[in-house]
Amino acid sequence: MELLSVIVPCYNEEENINDFYYELMKNEAYFGSRGMDVEVIYVDDGSKDGTVGKVKELAGKDGRVHLISFSRNFGKEAGIYAGLQKAKGNYAVLMDCDLQDPPSLLPEMFRYIDEGYDSVATRRVTRKGEPPIRSFFARMFYRVMNKISKTEIVDGARDYRLMTRQVVDAILAMAEYNRFTKGIFGWVGYQTKWLEYENIERKKGETKWSFWKLFLYSLDGITAFSTVPLAIASIMGLLFCLFAFVMIVFIIIRKLMFGDPTSGWPSLVCIILMCSGIQLFCVGIVGQYLSKTYMEVKKRPIYLIKEEI
Ligand code: UDP
Ligand code: MG
Repeated sequence: MELLSVIVPCYNEEENINDFYYELMKNEAYFGSRGMDVEVIYVDDGSKDGTVGKVKELAGKDGRVHLISFSRNFGKEAGIYAGLQKAKGNYAVLMDCDLQDPPSLLPEMFRYIDEGYDSVATRRVTRKGEPPIRSFFARMFYRVMNKISKTEIVDGARDYRLMTRQVVDAILAMAEYNRFTKGIFGWVGYQTKWLEYENIERKKGETKWSFWKLFLYSLDGITAFSTVPLAIASIMGLLFCLFAFVMIVFIIIRKLMFGDPTSGWPSLVCIILMCSGIQLFCVGIVGQYLSKTYMEVKKRPIYLIKEEI
């Protein structure tokens, strides 16, 4: 018998646990018609509200509901990894708890799996209901990212994705500490069908992503899937050396031909400021990669479990 593992990372989602379950189980007839069992794995990412209690209540009523509860907040990426590790299904699907990823799309997703696709991913074509400034930076991020990374990272891609066991195993094989899931999906490859839908606003509760958190996340993405910034540092150094060389020649010739007294400390100050600024910027880029390497070398566990049902 086939089994579908539904992985739901939750962080302070007490209002959504039940709603999600009932919305998902609206597909029960469909699962039955395929002769497929389903297991729901709620990954509690160190919630401070009643999330764990709600999941336990559900698990008491329905044996197909499982709980993994982290010792603290490790981030959604860690939640996804833990869920995929525990998933026993031939298929796994990742879904947000807030019903922004409609479970009603599942039958359509399975249609493509049956056609031979290895994974069915979703992408929102609109960013309705999002602050304009956030949309602007998000678009910029995807544009830059796709220029500087060989891994394809799709604009508007959600983590809502149905995968076969083969793809799940490929993702699990990438046991890196700095997990940028959107990049990992692109990196593993396989035949992926993209479904598009209009953005759905969160039903209850608040988004867990502040602008600052998203900004840091985008830096993680860049360092995890591109080394172009490192090249930028070297190229910029080279360009400035060239520029300095031209200027030296220019000044020597000017001195020899016109005997100009050396003038202008303001310009000198500007040059020193700019050069030291660029140096610091480049050292910063190297530092970013070094810090990621540092975290990676430590080989700390990606998550710690406090409780499991
Ligand atoms: N989430 C999580 N850990 C975190 C932040 C978020 O597990 O540190 C979960 C959250 O509970 C939700 C999903 O990740 O199920 C997406 O989060 P959210 O809806 O806040 O993000 P948005 O949809 O606004 O991008
Ligand atoms: Mg959401």
